[in-house]
Amino acid sequence: MASVVRIEVSHHRLPLDPPFPASWDTRPRTHFPATIVRVTDDAGRTGVGSGDAMYGFADYERHFIGADPLDFERNAAVLSNIEFHAGRPWPLDVALWDLAGKITGEPVWKMVGGRSNRIRAYASSGVHRPVADMVEVARRTADLGFPALKVRFGRPQLDDDLAVVKAIRDALGDRLELMVDCNQGWRMPWDVAAPWTVDHATAVAAVLEEHRVYWMEEPLHRGDYEGLAELRRRTSVRIAGGELTREPYEFRELLDRGCFDVFQPDVVCTQGITGLAVLAAQVEAAGRIFTPHTWGNGIGVMANLHLTAGAASAPFIEFPFDPPEWTTARRDYPMTETIEVDGEGWITLSDRPGLGFDLDEDVLRATASSQATFS
Ligand SMILES: [Mg+2]
Repeated sequence: MASVVRIEVSHHRLPLDPPFPASWDTRPRTHFPATIVRVTDDAGRTGVGSGDAMYGFADYERHFIGADPLDFERNAAVLSNIEFHAGRPWPLDVALWDLAGKITGEPVWKMVGGRSNRIRAYASSGVHRPVADMVEVARRTADLGFPALKVRFGRPQLDDDLAVVKAIRDALGDRLELMVDCNQGWRMPWDVAAPWTVDHATAVAAVLEEHRVYWMEEPLHRGDYEGLAELRRRTSVRIAGGELTREPYEFRELLDRGCFDVFQPDVVCTQGITGLAVLAAQVEAAGRIFTPHTWGNGIGVMANLHLTAGAASAPFIEFPFDPPEWTTARRDYPMTETIEVDGEGWITLSDRPGLGFDLDEDVLRATASSQATFS
């Protein structure tokens, strides 16, 4: 039996010059923080995860020293307890899966179900651009082979958001599926704007319906179960969300009450690979779509790719990509190689044990920081 001998957590910040004006952040981002978690076993094998900052996790490390990395359920249950006490520790679940793959010699996509080693990506944009520029983004996205593009709402005038969807449809017809992220389900720490009401969301949905939008994401606060279910009854556009929902019982409510067509929890934010493999099966058994949020660094993208390709049957998965401000080089900076799609938007996962990536130690040294949050 392998056993864990060491856990190391390090923080990093990549300077962003020029800054990244993320549409869901009221301030342009001048840094991209990352937390790297390494878990090493008694044979010297190391698994790597990334995601939330895990401040204070050192107090709980001892619950994993001596643990078997292959005891997935036990380890995830302890992480769930720690989440209650000290914030989200899910990067360690990802690191343990990477380590488990290195122990068994198998890639994670195979360990979680082996359904496929390939998955198609949709381009997930992050910048509010003028209408003409958004049409160019859509054209480039289609030319690169992506099957779908997600655009962001949240401009000062809703009409300007809606004009983007109309202009893209008018210019490209049905060359691309289009998704719209309303980002009402979460807030940056300093952003106290009220989320939309169900009537407001219904009016927006009516326009999206007209433009054949594939899904409407986070149209209401993540806890507005009643509103989400009502909205879903009122529109034929798929309703998506759940990227920052945490607990299994919350997802049960969202499923049972008919809140979402598309469930988007992210393994580095919620329940890890262990918990979300179970949720993905429940979501698909109910006839809904499971396809994670992946906005973070490439390690999180990679972990979500393995889970979703191996254990789900999503039509496509989020690929954060909006050059020049958001490139794969920026997104994947902790890794030696960027994750790229082929000419038709497909990503093929390797057969390397674990998650199949290497850390760029030089970059990690150069970006070492005491802070790994947006604050
Ligand atoms: Mg989103």
